[in-house]
Amino acid sequence: MVERQRTRLAALIAHARTRSPFYRELYRGVPAETSELAALPVTGKRELMAAFDDWVTDPAVTLKAARAFTADPAAIGHPFLDRYTLTTTSGTTGHHGIFLQDAHAAAVIPAMLARMLAHWLTVRDAAKIAAGGGRTALVVPEGGHFASTVAAERLRGRSRTAVLSVHRPLAELVEALNAFRPALLAPYATIGALLADEAEAGRLRIDPTLVTLSAEGLPVPEYERISRALGAKVCTSYAANECPFLSYGCRERWLHVNADWAVLEPVDERHRPVPPGEASHTVLLTNLANRVQPILRYDLGDAVTVRPDPCPCGSPGPALRVQGRAADTLAFHGPDGTSVTLAPLPLSTLLEAVPGLELFQIVQTGPARLRLRMRAALGADPDTVWRTAEVRLRELLTRHRLETVQIEHATEAPRYSAGGKVRTIIPTDQI
Ligand SMILES: [Zn+2]
Repeated sequence: MVERQRTRLAALIAHARTRSPFYRELYRGVPAETSELAALPVTGKRELMAAFDDWVTDPAVTLKAARAFTADPAAIGHPFLDRYTLTTTSGTTGHHGIFLQDAHAAAVIPAMLARMLAHWLTVRDAAKIAAGGGRTALVVPEGGHFASTVAAERLRGRSRTAVLSVHRPLAELVEALNAFRPALLAPYATIGALLADEAEAGRLRIDPTLVTLSAEGLPVPEYERISRALGAKVCTSYAANECPFLSYGCRERWLHVNADWAVLEPVDERHRPVPPGEASHTVLLTNLANRVQPILRYDLGDAVTVRPDPCPCGSPGPALRVQGRAADTLAFHGPDGTSVTLAPLPLSTLLEAVPGLELFQIVQTGPARLRLRMRAALGADPDTVWRTAEVRLRELLTRHRLETVQIEHATEAPRYSAGGKVRTIIPTDQI
């Protein structure tokens, strides 16, 4: 552990113990002055969300106020209590998360972004981007306090920045991108793959210098294909609402943790360290920059493998790959015998924004049939939740000219995988 990381960790632990009633109680048996992560108990979203008001270190922050904020679409992108960035995730475990970053943590984000750009861009690339006016296109989901949507809302209205909705039909997205001609393009990974198809077919005609893909994993050859099709460098990142600046992807397609501000511990089922070269069961995250809602040894639920040798890209620190974030694209027969593909993010984010929908799973049970397994939140009316979800799904399908696709209301609950997660989108060939 680098010295700077150790100092920051000791300060974070001291802060959590004194300012967060949850951590004060949790660390009661932990010796004072400790700065060893291994000495600390593991935490998780379910228990932290259940103790929300005791977890946060600012007494002005309450779950009630945070929930009211998340229920207000007009508040998306605005600061919560005038000082915090608030994002939400339903995740895949059925437990809604509400995450706050304070001003200090928010300031780390552009610094880490600059680090990633410095890795990827040559002086010539930077000159080319500047010559193109630095035009940046972000493709994000609408209607929820998603991390990417919140970030995009902050940039909306700036000249040279286009915020495009991931829920638009692909043809419209292609048209908007052709008109805008971005130098920098930031879509979700599966949307990036669909845009590469469009470029290969000659319909998308843009010349970006850099494409940054987020949120989902793709097979490594897909990144090379997207790069060729769009004539751009393609970079990725691995992050979480709990730590937006967690890592950046390098030229060798490995991820490097921003170790001065975050710690990742690959561990087995019993939370013992897993050596490099072996896949972990899960990974424990510590966010060293954020004070308002301390994240310490937090079980992220992702299986990772750390590279045993130094990464050939020359970046410092351990390099890792994440398993289990691969995304599933749904394919349908459209009108006139055409094929229509739906990326998973537009679907899942659409449903994540449905009030009272705690957990869901969309299964494609036939060429023109979707089955929605769902669980309503405690206190929410399941019929109302179902009807809202159905209306929104129907709107999305209609926009993609998939009016003939049937939506079934499943009687069974969403099914958990062996790892305790729910795969939100299951394509027809993988039931
Ligand atoms: Zn590397």
